[in-house]
Amino acid sequence: LIVLDKVDKWFGPLHVLQQVDLSVKRGEVVVVIGPSGSGKSTLCRAINRLEPINGGTITFDGKPLPAEGKALAKLRSEVGMVFQSFNLFAHKTIVDNVSLGPIKVRGEKPAAARDRAMKLLDRVGIANQANKFPAQLSGGQQQRAAIARALAMQPKAMLFDEPTSALDPEMVGEVLDVMASLASEGMTMVVVTHEMGFARHVANRVIFMADGQLVEDAPPDEFFANPRSDRAKDFLSKIL
Ligand code: ATP
Ligand code: MG
Repeated sequence: LIVLDKVDKWFGPLHVLQQVDLSVKRGEVVVVIGPSGSGKSTLCRAINRLEPINGGTITFDGKPLPAEGKALAKLRSEVGMVFQSFNLFAHKTIVDNVSLGPIKVRGEKPAAARDRAMKLLDRVGIANQANKFPAQLSGGQQQRAAIARALAMQPKAMLFDEPTSALDPEMVGEVLDVMASLASEGMTMVVVTHEMGFARHVANRVIFMADGQLVEDAPPDEFFANPRSDRAKDFLSKIL
């Protein structure tokens, strides 16, 4: 579904993605780990073209990423993204946050969009928060609302960039549970996270990035039992 071929990205003199090859199949869950500054966020942002690349190609669902216009808006709706900070519209209720995209971008009728939004809020366990504003919710609830908002666009894939890093520890589980259930329903997912339990139990593959390169790409059992590179060993010894 997602194919990166020799992707290069520079920020000025900094070579943040170096000849990155990566292929994510439909239904696959790929967890990306690695030290700070290794290029994990840039990789995610490149996949839905929040960040243009300087070399190589990225295709989504068989087509090169569009650079602009309607095609780009379509790509962004097909590749949902959830960030560390929840990015909800502060002055809209939760149900409006979830139904706005489908109404504006997909041309859905407000009543139908609201109906579907309520179903999605139910699915992520916060239907009872629908008429509140984001600031009235806990971090975990806000992040689940952000996931519902991305799902409302009926994406073919979801990118998560450290979705639980800004949460108090007791709220991490509720967000990971929603992500795990999405994975079990067959959603294609790329997840940047330091939650090694999630990587072990939910990922099909773990990718270890360092200095803009994909250093390892292995099933979780293999990666955790037997990391091949010294950099991955060193990284794991620090976080496990
Ligand atoms: P973290 O774990 O801290 O989130 P990361 O692996 O997500 O790190 P990136 O955010 O992808 O790393 O950044 C990779 C490198 O690119 C870093 O050195 C960062 O400082 C640099 N960088 C990121 N965004 C920009 C930008 N817009 N302009 C210039 N440099 C940038
Ligand atoms: Mg990052």
